Amino acid sequence: MNFRAVAEVFLEIEKRSGRLEMTDILAELFKKTSASDIDKLIYLTQGILAPPYEGIDLGMGEQFAIRAIAAVSGYPKEQIENHYKKSGDLGLTVEEVMSKRKQQSLSSAEMDVNFVYKSLLKIAKTGGAGSQDLKVKYLTELLNNSSPAEARFIVRFVLGRLRLGVGDPTILDALSFSKTGDKSLRAELERAYNVCSDLGYVAKIFFEFPDKISKFSVQPFKPLQPALAERLSTPEVIIEKIGECACEFKFDGFRLQIHKRGSEVEFYSRKLEKMTHMFPEVVEAVSKLKAKEIIFEGEALAYNEKENKYYSFQQTIQRKRKHGVDKASKELPLNVFCFDILYLDGKDLTETPYNERRKRMEKIFPLGLLKLSNRKLVKTAKELDMQFKESLKEGLEGIMAKDLNAPYTAGKRKFAWIKLKKSYGKSVDTIDAIIVGYYLGRGARAEFEFGGLLAAVYNEDKRKLETVARIGSGYSEDEMRSIQEMLEKIKTESPPSSLDYKMEPDFWVEPKYVVEIAFDEITLSPTHTCGERDGRGYALRFPRMLKMRSDKSINEITTVEEVIILFERQNQH
Ligand code: ATP
Repeated sequence: MNFRAVAEVFLEIEKRSGRLEMTDILAELFKKTSASDIDKLIYLTQGILAPPYEGIDLGMGEQFAIRAIAAVSGYPKEQIENHYKKSGDLGLTVEEVMSKRKQQSLSSAEMDVNFVYKSLLKIAKTGGAGSQDLKVKYLTELLNNSSPAEARFIVRFVLGRLRLGVGDPTILDALSFSKTGDKSLRAELERAYNVCSDLGYVAKIFFEFPDKISKFSVQPFKPLQPALAERLSTPEVIIEKIGECACEFKFDGFRLQIHKRGSEVEFYSRKLEKMTHMFPEVVEAVSKLKAKEIIFEGEALAYNEKENKYYSFQQTIQRKRKHGVDKASKELPLNVFCFDILYLDGKDLTETPYNERRKRMEKIFPLGLLKLSNRKLVKTAKELDMQFKESLKEGLEGIMAKDLNAPYTAGKRKFAWIKLKKSYGKSVDTIDAIIVGYYLGRGARAEFEFGGLLAAVYNEDKRKLETVARIGSGYSEDEMRSIQEMLEKIKTESPPSSLDYKMEPDFWVEPKYVVEIAFDEITLSPTHTCGERDGRGYALRFPRMLKMRSDKSINEITTVEEVIILFERQNQH
């Protein structure tokens, strides 16, 4: 498959906003793609080189991309920077300068998908001393062979800003359409994706062995998309919804999906990043399990068994920062409270009812620091409420009520799990928003160079980020320092290209970090753009940071639609 054809399809997709149209265009492209190229094409469309858990990051900063663009076009760096300041998108800048470039390439051989993919992979894998110069060299070579349109997408890609607006659901639809002309295989493809989190791999199997998709099984070292919980606000509605259920404590720790095959062990976070190196003591404990192959999930947190004291996610993380991994293991021992099992010695357990899965777990755990999550079967709202109060007394954040008959709902927020959480002051609900900018400290906070965050939620219809809160409180001094340090590294000259905004922070940042925000209520405000109507958008009143959600990615932030539902619900009360 020729990459120029792919770039043309990407251009076409950018002009469309409807999902159906995008599906059609992509399905046409997939029809023309061979089984050997399909995985690479899917990754490129997703804006990645491999599934996130492989941890392959292109790691190229704007300045390096600008150097490559200057080299390939023959224009001075300053001119490229000025153009970029106006366009706000280096992809558009490279496209324009390439179309007027002073130096014409001597070798402008057409590139195929495989070549572009491999070149990008080479850039990503170049590390060590002098690697940035080498990366610039490889990017220059790649751009030298590109048409202006190809260059637009390549530059956006290396900066991690491809954002075609094509979500995974559209790709899944398009795969089904490409083979059958309809969505009939969509559900099977989606399940396969949810249990391996690698869309390129699913597409490859689908193209090579179509029959295998319906029997697609969980496998060690291909992490499943985590099951998610619905939220209800009282024990009564929970019992009404699922009747007798298992009630477990909701630990505020670090969710780990643990995979083992023989002596090989790997842990994945909720975002499916590899976390194995962070928890050496857990590796040791897992190695002692008798099972040859196993995948299970638990919440890792520092726990003092003698005092029966649980520590929060924040404290668990700080434990490592402050004491170093080794010392931390001794002083504040970590425990994993295991709450689900997904695979055992060749058997995929995701379709097995939860109660059965739990029975299997009870044969394996506890083992050393691998504890079982404590649970109680409850029939009435009163019993559930007692468990809830008990959890708060233990300093935890609430409970999880689990449907005894439900399968493991990989990648889905379902009523198989229902959470009941404590409220924060007036705030019953919290939202997860993406940080798009920050303010300098003023007055008493001047020394921190940090005075708050500008945060946005996602508008699915418009495929835009829209601001919803300027968060001025909720930070400890330590947090102010660490957040400022973190954001300093991802400052950008211009706002994120996908952001609609009216308020301008002192600094814009790459939309990378998620923050959980509590608030008193949702109001309409002329300064925010969330779901804007008649010049006023939805906005959080008295927003305060609860915590950074390093376990969540931008794909999981609250949507504008959800904010509107919260607003309407609040007005009903
Ligand atoms: P929240 O924002 O409420 O922390 P979330 O959006 O991160 O939740 P949810 O699906 O709403 O994710 O809640 C499930 C989370 O609760 C899981 O990701 C897991 O980390 C955590 N958890 C704690 N204890 C349990 C338990 N006993 N069973 C399942 N999940 C648990």
